Amino acid sequence: MAEDRFDAIIVGGGLAGIAAAYRLAQEGLEVLVVERGNTCGSKNMTGGRLYTHTLEKLIPDLLQRAPLERRIVKERFSLLTPSSGTTIEVDSAKLGGLYANSYSVLRAPFDRWLADEAEAAGVMFVCGVLVDDLIIRDGRVCGIIAGEEEMEADVVILAEGVNAQLAQKAGLREELQPDQVEVGAKEVLSLDQAVLEDRFHLAPGEGIAWIIRGEDAFGPGANGFLYTNKDTISLGVVTEIGKIPSAQHSMVELVDLLKEHPVVAPLIAGSKTVEYSAHLLPCGQGAILPRLCGDGVLLAGDAAGLAINLGYVVRGMDLAVESGLLCAETVLKCHETGDFSRDALSSYETAIQNSFIPRDMERCGSYAAQLGNKALYDDPAKLIDVLTAVMQG
Ligand SMILES: Cc1cc2nc3c(=O)[nH]c(=O)nc-3n(C[C@H](O)[C@H](O)[C@H](O)COP(=O)(O)OP(=O)(O)OC[C@H]3O[C@@H](n4cnc5c(N)ncnc54)[C@H](O)[C@@H]3O)c2cc1C
Repeated sequence: MAEDRFDAIIVGGGLAGIAAAYRLAQEGLEVLVVERGNTCGSKNMTGGRLYTHTLEKLIPDLLQRAPLERRIVKERFSLLTPSSGTTIEVDSAKLGGLYANSYSVLRAPFDRWLADEAEAAGVMFVCGVLVDDLIIRDGRVCGIIAGEEEMEADVVILAEGVNAQLAQKAGLREELQPDQVEVGAKEVLSLDQAVLEDRFHLAPGEGIAWIIRGEDAFGPGANGFLYTNKDTISLGVVTEIGKIPSAQHSMVELVDLLKEHPVVAPLIAGSKTVEYSAHLLPCGQGAILPRLCGDGVLLAGDAAGLAINLGYVVRGMDLAVESGLLCAETVLKCHETGDFSRDALSSYETAIQNSFIPRDMERCGSYAAQLGNKALYDDPAKLIDVLTAVMQG
């Protein structure tokens, strides 16, 4: 195969892109991943809680080898006013049932590790390069353009994340509107491991996932999150992007308000900020795009609208991995026949519809209505069932 021609080119070295590339390389395809960050993970951000069920399909001994921070064993949910809060910690045998394994992760080390695994399987990575455009001939995507370079492939997988500009160029999605996207800002705070475990009542290796709603505490539409890592804490705020111009506080100030809140401050006292990041994320229960493929092109992960962000649950990483794997299975089938037309690739859309993704998007969307039903609070068993489901994502 010529140096600038591949079986598949993947734009974006996030979880969707790496998962797709890894699976294709396992079957011997020549795959190139182009990532604009200097390393995979350097541009990525997450809360972050990873449900590992989809990655475990790709890497069966993931739990033994991956740089996971802590296994989530405690679930907390708080409602804050500016000076007080109500916190619910759910303890239920049902927790751990649906997606038993979830872990806190830091994307920079995690994505880098996953990329190294994929590289060992044969994937070629080019990092620090922005893909500017697509090569489109007679309506068919044939490759990518990055600066002066042009590279061609049988199929291009766009796994470029939420702000999917190439997907727009391929005619598969419209420009993002302010009401379709939120922004998250996050700090990673270092804290002595023994102090962290003592404050959150955790044994070594155990972690907590804490979702914080605080309409009054942070300003309209903003919610907080806190996840414990080995010897750091990931803490941040998500808010509607459309509300920022008229908001009383900047994103930095919103994070400070959460850090200073009396419910949170004692738990992070003495910690030091070691990382600051901000990122867009799709909002709502997600809306799978009507078209996930065209001639010679497929969309995966956030670029395809596959994410859930409802204030009490933010989940996109396991959906990104699943869509990457389903893209790969479709490409493998098409590779056998040599047909990469939209018709042939459209079995990917069917595979997504038959996967857990639309089912979970819908299930999570129904929680808001259930939590708003006052009768629920007269029935502790039912309330615990709903909270358990909410906290599991
Ligand atoms: C504040 C916040 C909290 C979140 N919390 C959670 C959580 O706790 N659990 C969870 O499961 N999900 C969470 N998510 C969502 C999750 O992070 C995303 O759904 C997931 O990262 C999507 O993966 P992806 O591979 O589709 O995209 P990304 O991870 O965004 O990867 C896209 C990659 O494409 C690259 N790229 C983009 N354009 C180009 C280009 N033109 N050329 C080359 N490279 C390009 C980017 O640099 C990036 O590396 C959170 C998101 C945010 C912002």
